[in-house]
Amino acid sequence: MQTNKHKKVVIVGAGLVGTLWAIFLAKRGYEIDVFERRGDMRKAGYVGGRSINLAMSERGWKAVTKAGILEKIRRVAIPMSGRIMHSVDGILTQQAYGKSDEAIYSVSRGGLNLELLNIASTMPNIRFHFLHRCLGLDSSSNIQFEDEQTGEQITAACPLIFGTDGAYSVVRSSLQKLPRFNFSQSYLEHGYKELSIPADANGCHVLDKNALHIWARKSFLMIALPNSDGSFTCTLFHTFSGEEGFDALQDEKQIMNFFNKYFADIVPIMPNLLTEFQQNPTSTLVTMRCSPWQHQHKVLLIGDASHAIVPFYGQGMNAGFEDCTILDALIDKHQEDWAAILEEFNDTRIPDADAIAELALRNFIEMRDLVGDPIFLLRKKIAARLHEKFPNDFLPVYSMISFSNTPYRIALREDDAQNQLFEQILALPNIAERWDGEEVEQIFHDWLSKK
Ligand code: FAD
Repeated sequence: MQTNKHKKVVIVGAGLVGTLWAIFLAKRGYEIDVFERRGDMRKAGYVGGRSINLAMSERGWKAVTKAGILEKIRRVAIPMSGRIMHSVDGILTQQAYGKSDEAIYSVSRGGLNLELLNIASTMPNIRFHFLHRCLGLDSSSNIQFEDEQTGEQITAACPLIFGTDGAYSVVRSSLQKLPRFNFSQSYLEHGYKELSIPADANGCHVLDKNALHIWARKSFLMIALPNSDGSFTCTLFHTFSGEEGFDALQDEKQIMNFFNKYFADIVPIMPNLLTEFQQNPTSTLVTMRCSPWQHQHKVLLIGDASHAIVPFYGQGMNAGFEDCTILDALIDKHQEDWAAILEEFNDTRIPDADAIAELALRNFIEMRDLVGDPIFLLRKKIAARLHEKFPNDFLPVYSMISFSNTPYRIALREDDAQNQLFEQILALPNIAERWDGEEVEQIFHDWLSKK
């Protein structure tokens, strides 16, 4: 049994997952040193409102509830109960995400990080070391940092180190040099650019604020999530290359022609479009997988450091927060035997991370190609009806991911099974007229009996 009797922990990275995990451990009486490359966001004076925003759903809420900080986080979140799809002609189609009381929530990434830092700062056993860049692990698995202000190098020996330093984790890079460490990264042909729709003169939202807006255009798409200051943050996901790809959109004429052709309904409400398009970076989208996540019962990677995924299921942060919930439960289960905790977490969580990585890639296709497609909308309608009529036997995969804590690997299995079910249902002649008829239910019951 390896119980970390001095209860000392080092966390690398004060992002969303690292800060939340520090709060969990502080509540258990651990002494935590958090090293963060950037300056202190609290001093830098992050101004809330507009920034990249994230969709928070059940797994994220469960974690912040368990950490005892639900109310503080809830007040910075805006519920989005469904999607609103914008066609090229400006026609809007609305679709609920789940039941009438279910919603995903738009939260500002910077605002949430700041709120977590503020909460963590009230805990005397958490010490933050900002402007300390991790350099990696040495051969004894001690962790090395550089003080960005003085250039001094520091080595910290600690019985337990959590690498929460994001997708380009330096802690993981150290492990990558070791024999039998598996790592893969795979970039999409698409990148993304942040744009905005400002509030109107009264500070109000100019589109429905309780929805996630989607402009699906087959090979690319744009989404918009509401911010608390009345604005929306839009993200254009688009190929880098190709006739109208990011690389081809350089001058004013090319950019405006593209937007007037595909997003004519919102050009008039994006006064800063041209400047933002030209000034904001075009960023990449990557899936990273690795294993093992733990090393010598001493180092553990969590959050994006171990499982960076593409954002199309809105699950990256939610999955990282769920890492915290699961680890916390394992602390109880194994009575603080960290060797057992790290091993079980490593063995059970990696298949879940692989599953959500796959589901996120599948949802990219769905959002891009299918959201505006009548057959896809019909499928969603049939799925909602089956769920309403047979709530114990049928849960749409989106609900399983966003409104339940079902392990991701089970949701992936269910996605495969439901794809087979809908292949049969949608092949029925005149299905658009018979979508709520007996044949559909018969196919459903046959499918269920073979599951
Ligand atoms: P990060 O947030 O990346 O934090 C890592 C921290 O480590 C940072 O503070 C960084 O400065 C620090 N750090 C890095 N290197 C070092 C070093 N060498 N030394 C010290 N510190 C270091 N997720 C959702 O759940 N819902 C969404 O809707 C959603 N939308 C997204 C949209 C986009 C466009 C993108 C790109 C991501 C989205 N995500 C979403 C994913 C989400 O942003 C990430 O999963 C989440 O931020 C991961 O948190 P983290 O703490 O693991 O990593």
